[in-house]
Formats: sequence, structure tokens, C-alpha cells
Amino acid sequence: MLLAEQRRQVVQVGLDALAHGVVHGTSGNMSIRDPATGLIAISPSGIPYPAVTPADIVVVDEEGEVVEGVRKPSSETPLHTMVHRERPHVRAIVHTHSHYATVVGCLRPALPPILTEVALVVGARVPVTRYGLTGTPDFGRSVIEVLEPGGLAVILKNHGLICFGDDFERALGVAEAVEEAAKVYVHALAANGGREPDLVPEELIPEMRERFFASYGQPKTPTAG
Ligand code: 13P
Ligand code: ZN
Repeated sequence: MLLAEQRRQVVQVGLDALAHGVVHGTSGNMSIRDPATGLIAISPSGIPYPAVTPADIVVVDEEGEVVEGVRKPSSETPLHTMVHRERPHVRAIVHTHSHYATVVGCLRPALPPILTEVALVVGARVPVTRYGLTGTPDFGRSVIEVLEPGGLAVILKNHGLICFGDDFERALGVAEAVEEAAKVYVHALAANGGREPDLVPEELIPEMRERFFASYGQPKTPTAG
């Protein structure tokens, strides 16, 4: 079976996304690229997450042609393959329909820096696409148009959220962080009579991020005593 480990990971991230409440039913989809072969393991279309097994995961090439698999791949395969082709920093993709990110995608051109933690991890703002035609390459194009180099998240207008990472743990972590920030933003807007709430000062974010990535948490290698 091709990409057996990646297939296992696609099943697991679907279950994790469901458990964390960022997908429901059969909404959302996930894919991961194998750098050695360029092949992509992607979730099947329209199968509820708890029912998906590794044998249901589909292996496609970067044009979206099925290389191995008995199921139909996700209807958003053109979106996933376009991002994999055009953004080499991306290895894992998690698309969700999480509630508050979707609300922001119906209201605003971007999610502004409302939470310090999310500004640190994702950057100053999460862009919202123009309306893209779901299930077609136009949907992928709408994402590429607003995805800056190194970008980790894009809100899909009137649809949901798509997040990127080196692996599924990071991509899902970004999806959860953006959803939390979107939730705070929507509540802060409502509590403020629809006026823009106070935001993290944008000019501080680059320095904050630099310091965060250089020094947050425990040292990467133990220092000799
Ligand atoms: P699939 O089940 O075909 O992956 O579709 C779910 C979805 O979120 C479409 O945007
Ligand atoms: Zn979707």
C-alpha cells in the first residue's frame, strides 16, 4: 500500500479535528505530501470521520490524478493539489468548517490581530479569500491569491478555514488557534456594538514573533551543566 504512514496520519488528524470540534459530519478535508515521491495522501469525499480507515485514504499525484485508492478523493482535491504545487513550504493541509472563523469569513476581509498568542504563531492577520467556486481550481486560485509566502492560514469566504504546516500536528494547531481568535473577535465585536475592538499593535508583532520563535519554551538542546 502506498504512503501507509501518511494514510494513517490522515485518518488520525480527521479524528483529532472532530474531537476538537473544528469539523463536523463530513465537512472539511485533509492531505499530506510525501516529499520523496511528491505523492499526496488525501481524505475521501463524503465519509464521516469515525468511519474512515487507512484503506479509504486516496493517493493522488500533484495534478490530482488518483495513483492508488478505492474511494473518490475529496471534492476539494483541486484546492489541495494547487497549494501543494505552488507553496513548497506546505506539507500538511487541514481544511475545516469551524464556526467562528466562518463567521469572520462572512463579515471581514481579514481576521485582525485580536489575540497575542495567535499573532505570535500565525502573524498579524489571517486573510479572507474572495468567493471561490468550491470543488474547482478556482477555489484553489482564490486561496493562492491571498496566501503570502510562509503563510499558515486563510479563511475561505462564506465557507470555512484552511491551514498549513510541516505536519498535521502544526496545521491542526493553527486551525484551533485561528478558531479561538475568531471566537474572541466575534464576541468582542458584538460586545462593542459592532465597532472594531482593541487589537494587538501591529508594529510590535514582527519583534514579538522573532523573540517568541527564538526563545519560547525550553531550550531545544540541553545545556551542559
Ligand atoms: P469532501 O467530503 O468532498 O472532502 O468535502 C467536504 C468539504 O468541506 C468541501 O468543501
Ligand atoms: Zn469545505
